[in-house]
Amino acid sequence: MTKFRTLDDLSDLTGKVALVRVDLNLPMQDGAVTDDTRVRAAAPTILELSAKGAKVLLLAHFGRPKGERVSTMSVSMTLDAVQAVLGKEVMFVPEIAGPVLAQSIGILQPGDIALLENTRFWKGEEANDPEFAKAIAANADIYVNDAFSAAHRAHATTEGLAHLLPAYAGRSMEAELKALDKALGTPVKPVAAVVGGAKVSSKLDVLTHLVTQVDHLIIGGGMANTFLAARGVNVGKSLCEHDLAPTAEKIMETAEQSGCIVHLPYDVVVAKEFAANPPSLRTCNVHEVAADEMILDVGPQAVEALADVLKTCRTLVWNGPLGAFETEPFDMATVALAKSAAALTSEGALVSVAGGGDTVAALAHAGVTEQFSYISTAGGAFLEWMEGKELPGVKALEI
Ligand code: ADP
Ligand code: MG
Repeated sequence: MTKFRTLDDLSDLTGKVALVRVDLNLPMQDGAVTDDTRVRAAAPTILELSAKGAKVLLLAHFGRPKGERVSTMSVSMTLDAVQAVLGKEVMFVPEIAGPVLAQSIGILQPGDIALLENTRFWKGEEANDPEFAKAIAANADIYVNDAFSAAHRAHATTEGLAHLLPAYAGRSMEAELKALDKALGTPVKPVAAVVGGAKVSSKLDVLTHLVTQVDHLIIGGGMANTFLAARGVNVGKSLCEHDLAPTAEKIMETAEQSGCIVHLPYDVVVAKEFAANPPSLRTCNVHEVAADEMILDVGPQAVEALADVLKTCRTLVWNGPLGAFETEPFDMATVALAKSAAALTSEGALVSVAGGGDTVAALAHAGVTEQFSYISTAGGAFLEWMEGKELPGVKALEI
């Protein structure tokens, strides 16, 4: 595991200036924040640095302004949400470096917090321009990265700054890295991975990496259809990438060589039309899917068998729902397996780590968010980690 400094390595910071990279790319509707999860994730780090007496400067991107000031993408849109979560007044500074920022720092008292403007208003951010990073660092004493979700990008405020200032992982970054290490870095074996979702093509690298890392690979969702088709199963009208059959075969071959058992559903839930509780709904063996039917979920017998697989495992990493869970009853397999994993985790028999945009929603729908060991809300960064890639923002924290 990457060795990195944490806030435990910091004591009194009275009057010191701490640059803290956070994720404030919050979902908004009609000018109001609709979900403050990301602010709540960063709050412990911000408040801890403030309590240690630092002048805390928050760095974040918001939207894709592509190196220009775009008023509708000002980070100030998140200011109310940030103040509400922190329970403190936060000063907004419409700059990221230079004299205006220096002046603002002069006004701040130890423990005060300021929110700096959208890092992506400047071209140097995404270009990871060292001069740009130097201008930001010039005002500060330390750099704290608490935005794992942006760590797959080598940008000035996610990577560059870590080379210019003493760099620390914030509390949420620390928790994420520890959880991910337990899941795939140095996991307790046997390890199971669940990979579902719509398409194989979006997760080729994930599958290819996982078959060399885990003992059981459970494939569900639309991507299972591509694997079933590659094995000669007629999947009817199901979502299926027939041209990827050779790729699916290759992945299964690599799995066999690596001693990884690939689990594909042997019963499935099918329908002739994709709608909630359609009249044509039925459960059948994978070999009995009619030409005008589509597979929309893993069947109950397969789920039971998969739950038994989980009972033999000590670690689970999960990305992608097993079925079209947004539409009833195609959430059944995902909900049932999630509940099995949650129960095993509660008993202390399993470490369960999950991530991915739709996966987070699916597991919340199953009501297991609290029981899982860790659920990552980082989309792209989580997937790149599952692909076995080194994340530049994490690498830069290494000591
Ligand atoms: P994540 O965002 O967690 O990485 P994906 O985006 O890869 O997950 O996949 C989620 C989507 O896959 C969901 O919208 C779900 O409806 C869809 N899906 C799952 N199973 C099927 C299936 N059998 N047929 C069609 N779509 C499916
Ligand atoms: Mg998705």
